[in-house]
Amino acid sequence: MKKYFKSFCVIFFTLFFIQSLYLRSQEKIDPKIWNKALKIHHRAIVIDTHCDTPMVMFNRGVNIGEKSNSNEVDLIRMKEGGLDAVFFAVYISNKLDKKHPSRRALEIIDEVYNQVSKYPELAELAFSSLDIHRIHKLGKRAILIGMENGGPIEGSLRLLRDFYRLGVRYITLTHNQHNDICDSSTGGESRWKGLSPFGRKVVKEMNRLGMIIDVSHISDLAFWDVLKISKVPVIASHSCVRAICNTPRNLSDKMIKALAAKGGVIQLNFYSGFLEEEFRKKSEEKYKLMQPQLKELEEKYKDNEAELWEAFSKLWKKHAPPPASVEVLLNHIDHIVKLVGVDYVGLGSDYDGAGSFPRGLEDVSKYPLITYHLLKRGYKEKEIKKILGENFLRVFSAVENLRNK
Ligand SMILES: [Zn+2]
Repeated sequence: MKKYFKSFCVIFFTLFFIQSLYLRSQEKIDPKIWNKALKIHHRAIVIDTHCDTPMVMFNRGVNIGEKSNSNEVDLIRMKEGGLDAVFFAVYISNKLDKKHPSRRALEIIDEVYNQVSKYPELAELAFSSLDIHRIHKLGKRAILIGMENGGPIEGSLRLLRDFYRLGVRYITLTHNQHNDICDSSTGGESRWKGLSPFGRKVVKEMNRLGMIIDVSHISDLAFWDVLKISKVPVIASHSCVRAICNTPRNLSDKMIKALAAKGGVIQLNFYSGFLEEEFRKKSEEKYKLMQPQLKELEEKYKDNEAELWEAFSKLWKKHAPPPASVEVLLNHIDHIVKLVGVDYVGLGSDYDGAGSFPRGLEDVSKYPLITYHLLKRGYKEKEIKKILGENFLRVFSAVENLRNK
């Protein structure tokens, strides 16, 4: 009887989940494909290489052990969405580059440690590819640390090594502006024409440490410098395809080919403004219209970046164009697969950081929808598993294997 009750519950909740998914995404879900997709999804190791969750821990007091409505990631919804491992980004604005940013980075890392240690039954910190496998086997979430902007190393390879010791396993070399490591893709007139002399040393030291180099956000010239100097594959932790959505934050086909030839991986960002050209254009127009209000906010919160970000997010939500569809994300995957094959693409959502995600993919609990669409488009289980996490794991272990060599 108990057994029947259990299967009844499973069927009931599956149907309930399908229905709610249907209602939320306004999309008809084929239950046969959906059930097959869920099985594959739960057999796979699903990895997201970029979530800005530490930012909402600080700005909104989000507690990752509780289900929250104010952000996109927590341990409960990660489990619901079958997301096994995530990189929490220690994001430091370039505005702090000259203001001792290491302090802020250390505080954020401390917060990640504190929060993860509060929920030993749900999650563990992971420091290696083997840790991800081990924690996955335990049925827990693996939490890893990446750093978004190398500003906090403050021009010191010693600090770089210290951040590695604390568990930082990738660094996005810069963010929206140039820093002392390299130029940014959105920083305007070039300062270094790629990597700076210090940036070259950083790349070599990261190789030696076994730390992944993240080329998201960096300028095209910096990208080419990194590819030339790095002895191991690199990642773009949260970028998309420029041929589909023409922003400098995305990679051109030439760059994707070179990244793949080196064995690296492009982890796709879910932000509608990097996925869909129409959204990008419309949002640029909206930004122009919002300028007077943005200036007011910048003045009001000039000493408090957290509050500025919160106020900006609220304003943006009011003005944002309708989000992209999940199909568009799939188009980016198809494009990369056609261009270089299935071994060089993965997922790096930018949840808790970017402001508008595809319909049906509003938070981490919706991850199975990607597997559903991959299956629907004819991808085989082996290929789906690569996209969901194995491609990234391949790069991670290649970087680890070079450690100290
Ligand atoms: Zn970013």
